[in-house]
Amino acid sequence: MPPDRVANGLSVDVEEWFQVGAFERVIDRADWDSIASRVEANTGAVLDLFAESGVRATFFTLGWVAQRHPRLIRRIAEAGHEVASHGWDHRRVFTMDAPTFRADLARARAALEDAGGQAVTGYRAPSFSIDARNPWAFTELAAAGYAYSSSVAPVVHDHYGWRAAPRYAFRPLPDAALIELPVTVAKLAGRHLATGGGFFRMLPAALTDFAMRQVNGEGHAGIFYFHPWEVDPGQPRVSRAPLRSRVRHYARLGAMAGKLRGLIARHDWGRIDAIAAREAMRLP
Ligand SMILES: [Zn+2]
Repeated sequence: MPPDRVANGLSVDVEEWFQVGAFERVIDRADWDSIASRVEANTGAVLDLFAESGVRATFFTLGWVAQRHPRLIRRIAEAGHEVASHGWDHRRVFTMDAPTFRADLARARAALEDAGGQAVTGYRAPSFSIDARNPWAFTELAAAGYAYSSSVAPVVHDHYGWRAAPRYAFRPLPDAALIELPVTVAKLAGRHLATGGGFFRMLPAALTDFAMRQVNGEGHAGIFYFHPWEVDPGQPRVSRAPLRSRVRHYARLGAMAGKLRGLIARHDWGRIDAIAAREAMRLP
């Protein structure tokens, strides 16, 4: 990569296709173990896709997944990717109190470190659930020794969002080294438009390209994310979920892998721990 170009953070939120906000009211956590797992095959497809282009990425993984699929976590680590935490079982942080969040962090990290054999220093809140409601979450992350979090989406959205948050790296606490790296949004006519995950799948890739170049032009790394289930057109259909959730979850799954290949080829990418370290040296 030429030194004048900014590497962006490439990230995957590793969870089963059914461990998503869209299905939380129709699929009970108690039933998760009875549903056929697809996370290992789906994440394997993502690892193959990354290997094709030689990129390294960060895999924010549920402790629940690491406990059941330790070989997958080892495979991620051995391919040179970063294993980071996505919490234990996808409970949103703003539904927990501080001691519960602390326990969730510790349980997930232990499972991820046991399986991957690497120190876990990064965290992404399920459904970007750190916002103006729960700034105490940053205090917990700093106390637990995390170097960075990538848990904020600076958008207005029906399920999440912290519109007033900065669009790129900031220190959320005055007295701690912890860095927050929000997911990249496009700033257009005074609005913030979300770009990763289902937004990337459903909207033209040009919007994500625009957002990445926009933050790069301001001298910062962009942060992109998606999920392993988004490259799996064969996943089961949950007909009893609300129509809007089904549209969001199942739209354009078959086109995702090709769209990702194009995005990966058009920008420079790296692990988020490396980006956090670089941003930490630049921030006051
Ligand atoms: Zn997630």
